[in-house]
Amino acid sequence: MKAQDLNGAAWATLFAIATTGSAAIAQERPGFTDTPVLPDGKWRVHDADRPAPDVVTPGAMPGAPPSDAIVLFDGGSLDAWQPQGGAWIIEDGVLTVPPRTPDGGENALVSKQSFGDVQMHLEFRSPNPLEKSSQDRGNSGIWFMQRYEIQILDGFDNPTYADGTVGAIYGWKPPLVNPSRPPGEWQSYDIVFERPRFGPAGELLRPAYVTAFLNGVLVQHRQPWLGGTIWRQVGRYEPHGDAEPIQLQDHDSPVSFRNIWVRPLPEAASSHDFEGEVK
Ligand code: MG
Repeated sequence: MKAQDLNGAAWATLFAIATTGSAAIAQERPGFTDTPVLPDGKWRVHDADRPAPDVVTPGAMPGAPPSDAIVLFDGGSLDAWQPQGGAWIIEDGVLTVPPRTPDGGENALVSKQSFGDVQMHLEFRSPNPLEKSSQDRGNSGIWFMQRYEIQILDGFDNPTYADGTVGAIYGWKPPLVNPSRPPGEWQSYDIVFERPRFGPAGELLRPAYVTAFLNGVLVQHRQPWLGGTIWRQVGRYEPHGDAEPIQLQDHDSPVSFRNIWVRPLPEAASSHDFEGEVK
């Protein structure tokens, strides 16, 4: 810190260090008490009283769950999930969509816990050798709140409609780019989902939003959803609860998964205080 940047409470903090020699005291409330109030009306610029963020220990390896994550699949059991239909296959720590039953029914996998705003990490692998083409090649999907699908597909050299390829908000927004890895290789999704907000009469106050990285590359940047995902239709909203399960799709393709974890997000993560200030 440069001396010309200091005034007010910061000078008081430095004085405390100099006179007591105690870094603990100096670290107690660094910041300012005489600066302008921010547009949120709660805090001053560099407010000394503003709570510090909680400490979270990141995973040791990139993609590993941090200390505050809820692990939904770590290679072991499916305790966090409720199968709808046939059981998904776990082999060598890898989870795979099972073959369709003779009646052809869908084998979706639904989380037992419900989530609203959430950060999600998931790794998937498209079937290798190749099977079929377009929407029938490695199709699955992450259905937030069992309504809003981020597409999983083998998007590697696999022509299909743009709003149905991997990284798409299915039926609405193609991904910004296609950073697909070849089938048979593991790929990662890191997604921030913001649930829609409904008023007391079920009216839509704010749409759902999604930000998504596929293999570390941004594919959706806080894109609003048109509504719930509906094949061959324009998505539309129907009121629902503040928290609903996450569903992994069975689209009759043996897509594999590993390392699935989520972090429910606090209201502050999607409060976007500044929005009301834009003229
Ligand atoms: Mg799908």
